[in-house]
Amino acid sequence: MKKFTQLNLPAKFLSNLESLNYNTMTKIQEESLPISLEGKDLIAQAKTGSGKTVAFSIPIVKKLNVRKFAIQSLVLAPTRELANQIAQEIRKVSRHIHNVKVLTLCGGVPYKPQVASLKHGAHIVVATPGRILQHIFETKVDLSDLEMLVLDEADKMLDMGFYEDITKVIENIPKNRQTMLFSATYEKDIEQLASEITKESTFIQDESVHEKQTINQIVYEASETEKDLLIPSLISSQEAKSVLIFCNTKIKCEELADILYKNDVDVLTLHSDLDQRERDETIIMFSNKSYPVLIATDVASRGLDIDDIDLVINYDLAKDVKTHIHRIGRTARAGKKGLALSFYDEESRYKLEMIEDKFDDLVYGKKEEIEVCNYEIDCDFRTLFINSGKKFKLRAGDILGALTAGLGLPKDAIGKIDILEFVSYVAIKKEYIEQAYEGLCRNKIKGKYIKCFIK
Ligand code: ADP
Ligand code: MG
Repeated sequence: MKKFTQLNLPAKFLSNLESLNYNTMTKIQEESLPISLEGKDLIAQAKTGSGKTVAFSIPIVKKLNVRKFAIQSLVLAPTRELANQIAQEIRKVSRHIHNVKVLTLCGGVPYKPQVASLKHGAHIVVATPGRILQHIFETKVDLSDLEMLVLDEADKMLDMGFYEDITKVIENIPKNRQTMLFSATYEKDIEQLASEITKESTFIQDESVHEKQTINQIVYEASETEKDLLIPSLISSQEAKSVLIFCNTKIKCEELADILYKNDVDVLTLHSDLDQRERDETIIMFSNKSYPVLIATDVASRGLDIDDIDLVINYDLAKDVKTHIHRIGRTARAGKKGLALSFYDEESRYKLEMIEDKFDDLVYGKKEEIEVCNYEIDCDFRTLFINSGKKFKLRAGDILGALTAGLGLPKDAIGKIDILEFVSYVAIKKEYIEQAYEGLCRNKIKGKYIKCFIK
């Protein structure tokens, strides 16, 4: 395994990567970076969790000229959640450079503020295809200095019907550019798209991290009522800390949430009844470890990218193998071993057979053998909501400073900090939450009193 230090990158760049704990490269990074950093086109296929975002963020940042105030790189992604995560990753990878402007332009959020943000300029834009197209036609966003185009999760964009939008975007950007296409699968339609938009590209495939090797899968035959009873025991017998459960309907998500609540498990649900703000909040509070369990439908969890999930449970089997692979790929991120448990019954047995064709190491578990333990799943953090965000120039450092230097909280009492446009969320270790809350309410941040409350 090679280290990032073996790449020809400036010292500051390397020390920033080190500070992010990126030391050894993942396979896809090791294979793609020498090519992409040379400015060459690339098509890369690798499964979820193999480090693709970092793989394209590094060449984007390397190429960036921060003094040139023009959009230099454009990343297209299928969903808003994913676009936000990519933007965050690029911001992290570019921390050693001052004043880098990364802008997201996604559907599902008001259009006008985006027009205003564009007027202020940006170096890097992360967008969903439909919305950037609208900006190309209506806002007349200037993409004439674009040097790099990245398509992330290209397969999913095609699944979602973005083919035409993508080709229209490409008609409106310079031909003389570097193009990188990333995808978890590589089927005919992707090949076609790739050949249309890249030039003399190198194809990289990372099969080494195949699902089989990194995810243990156990299936249980169980009826509906049995499943409800088994889930708490499964969670405790695995001593899981972070669990993602998939149901096929939003009604089931809510029913199961009620059952788990009665078992004293804190759960969140994610499905299409939630509006965009509620979805953002749910994802933030699960990923910052304030809630140990998230129950989701496939549609709502599209593009959701959360680390450290040690257990995925398929309450219902997914509608097809592709979705199943996508679901279980949420565990075993970046080389860690994961566990996926699935239930089936007579009716869904045919789906299990399709899955079995793909995985020859599926284990049939016995319900009777699930150990009942004393372990209770719980989280170390709680979330503090702050009614201020990027629009008020609030930065993670301001909050960190107010909590540590200002209130004397130890650094490790503060977890993930998410700064959104108008509001922010800070994960605080439970034992410090009251102190943090009262302190922040009493003191100013950046010369202003803020409102906050415990979520
Ligand atoms: P993908 O897009 O392939 O699904 P991501 O880019 O989202 O995968 O990466 C998954 C996780 O692995 C992220 O949390 C990321 O921070 C982490 N990661 C990526 N590259 C490395 C690395 N070289 N070392 C350690 N962690 C990494
Ligand atoms: Mg990705």
